[in-house]
Amino acid sequence: MLKVFIHDVRAEDNIIVTCSVNEMQKESTMTTDIHTHLGSERMSIHNVTEHDLPEQVDILLNRMDTFGIRHAVLTPIEPSISTKLYAEASRINPERIHYACSINPRPLDDAQKLLKEYVNDHTVALVLDDKMYHPEDPSIDKLVDQAIEYELPIYFHSDQMSAATLALVDRLSTIYPTGKFIVLHMGGLFGFPQVLPLITRDNVFCEISVTLVRLVESPLRMFLEAMIQEIGVSKLIFGSEHHSEYPDIMAALNMINLNIESSRLIRQQNAWQLLKLDYC
Ligand SMILES: [Zn+2]
Repeated sequence: MLKVFIHDVRAEDNIIVTCSVNEMQKESTMTTDIHTHLGSERMSIHNVTEHDLPEQVDILLNRMDTFGIRHAVLTPIEPSISTKLYAEASRINPERIHYACSINPRPLDDAQKLLKEYVNDHTVALVLDDKMYHPEDPSIDKLVDQAIEYELPIYFHSDQMSAATLALVDRLSTIYPTGKFIVLHMGGLFGFPQVLPLITRDNVFCEISVTLVRLVESPLRMFLEAMIQEIGVSKLIFGSEHHSEYPDIMAALNMINLNIESSRLIRQQNAWQLLKLDYC
């Protein structure tokens, strides 16, 4: 098999990583990264300002080019990572950079008005981060109801899926069979086994950033293998969290020995279907 070597200077530790990208990945330049944040390093994602936006978008686009990634969805987390900032970033290169919106569900009238504005401004998803709401707050249901009317997928962003957030995903995915609910970071290393029963539902999906890399090296890998055997890869979606993670995620995907078609589903087609974007 043809091997292509990419030398990647890792911003966070200034070391040079040599990563092999096999023919399968090199052939395709159409991967979609459905969840990423701007920042020179992963630890500085909260420090990006309007002033350095063009430079940060440029850094991201360069990394995307290196790793064969055509599209990325910037994922804000209000109030520390502003939706307006990411909307502005997407305007720099609207063909390749897209944005989700993060909205505080209270007061509800304001939240609904803001959601409508972002939809008119071409946002591609609604992000719910567990630091921003109480999972039993009825405002969440009303905001999600409106987002589903607009056919927006719902992202659940958390480091480790809590029992309360898990119950929220369970409730919303039951109430809204036509919704698309995406658990980012696969729910975390220890959250993933809890998320698994929900992934068997037609409307619940898992984005692989951060956790896949840990999972493939962990005894919990058996949960991933069982899932792939049982339901295939249609519920796994490529995401990165940060562009510095691209080499590790590509390596982790290689470690689970996917055939070309399965790899294509995770990196391209599943995302296209969820985001309803015509990337072909
Ligand atoms: Zn994130």
